[in-house]
Amino acid sequence: MGKKGLLLCVCQGTCPSFQQMNIFEVGNAIRREKLVDYIAIHPQLCATDGDTFLSTLLHGNSTDELYVAGCDPTMQVKMYRDAMASAGFDPSRLKGVDIRNMTTDQAVQAIKKLIAG
Ligand code: SF4
Repeated sequence: MGKKGLLLCVCQGTCPSFQQMNIFEVGNAIRREKLVDYIAIHPQLCATDGDTFLSTLLHGNSTDELYVAGCDPTMQVKMYRDAMASAGFDPSRLKGVDIRNMTTDQAVQAIKKLIAG
């Protein structure tokens, strides 16, 4: 069975939008409840190496659902389009949530809501 994964993307960790939360603790909260099969923090998914990361990760169809918490979900779809296409990953399996300017707790709740559908 395919896996569910969560990526946390943080604009290199330098953007003020991510300064109110502890991104490690956001990931840990989701891990502790075993809501997904894997979690990773990536500094910049919309950069060239982010494309490579995504297409490598998604290649081979082992991920059923990919959750990405970071910037605006509509922007995510546009920015990850090429990587998803090269991996043969159906974009409808990408679920994004905007966690900018949230606290740790707010981000955790937003991600939980996303995963619950
Ligand atoms: S994908 Fe979004 S959250 Fe990630 S670095 Fe790019 S703009 Fe920032």
